[in-house]
Amino acid sequence: MKIILAAPRGFCAGVNMAIESLDLAIKAFGTPIYVFHEIVHNKFVVETFREKGAVFVDHLSEVPEGSHLLFSAHGVSPEIRRYAKERRLVAIDATCPLVTKVHLEAIRYAREKYTIILIGHDGHDEVVGTMGEAPEAIVLVESVEQAQKIEFPAGTKLAYLTQTTLSVDDANRIIRVLKERFPQLEGPPKDDICYATQNRQEAVSVLAPEADLVLVLGSQNSSNSQRLRELAAEKGVDAHLIDGAGDIDDGWFAGKNAVLITAGASAPESVVQGCVDHLKVRFNATVEIRSIREEEVHFPLPRPLRELGASPK
Ligand code: SF4
Repeated sequence: MKIILAAPRGFCAGVNMAIESLDLAIKAFGTPIYVFHEIVHNKFVVETFREKGAVFVDHLSEVPEGSHLLFSAHGVSPEIRRYAKERRLVAIDATCPLVTKVHLEAIRYAREKYTIILIGHDGHDEVVGTMGEAPEAIVLVESVEQAQKIEFPAGTKLAYLTQTTLSVDDANRIIRVLKERFPQLEGPPKDDICYATQNRQEAVSVLAPEADLVLVLGSQNSSNSQRLRELAAEKGVDAHLIDGAGDIDDGWFAGKNAVLITAGASAPESVVQGCVDHLKVRFNATVEIRSIREEEVHFPLPRPLRELGASPK
């Protein structure tokens, strides 16, 4: 059996920055250190940090006054920032700059009196944070069906934004419907779906047709990982989204000759290698690395960590 190992895969620049931030914050400030929501949507990463003394909370009321608090890569609404200030929490913002870019676009459009159609998934941390920037100006659209039905008063100034981790194809289908129905619709100057999401999807698009099974490493609550699994399935290839080698069912590989392995932007390389090793041992698999694009993106650490000189960057 052959393993086709897709590249790029796994950690993106935003996830790298968020993980390094939490690591440095633990070293600089000690534990417990609090994190609003999961630092990134990956079970393995969250568990590893929990063992190091990070405490993940869904409500700031759970954080004792004066504590250090990290905002995760997905970003937060201004209301959360305000509440953190009120409780005298020492906030470190590990929001990915590409999420912040969408927040700033929302603020600008709202200021210019646009109604903003945010294309994204209801309840996702990033969507909750973005909508919080201008709750009175943003409406969420999740599907083509909703795009076909949504109505606005005549003459409404309209703009759309998207969650950073959507399926490029699904988002384009929704945008097409909206543009047909609302010709005045404006969009962001540059794509909101981030480079990492696009590149990982492109790799699956190109390589899945060469495989008869696809393994996507990532957690079930990881939006970009789910999209990779769906994309492979749309290409007609059996696909499984798994956290690691422990989730593998050897029965999946009966009669399969080529397995594509990729990983969502929050899945560490160690879980990828765990799967590769499993398939080598169980099926004598060989590995072919297939890179469809180079990535050279790095984001700076949040200012408090830079200023502390906690990192050489
Ligand atoms: Fe940032 Fe994209 Fe990574 Fe999300 S997936 S953290 S938007 S680079």
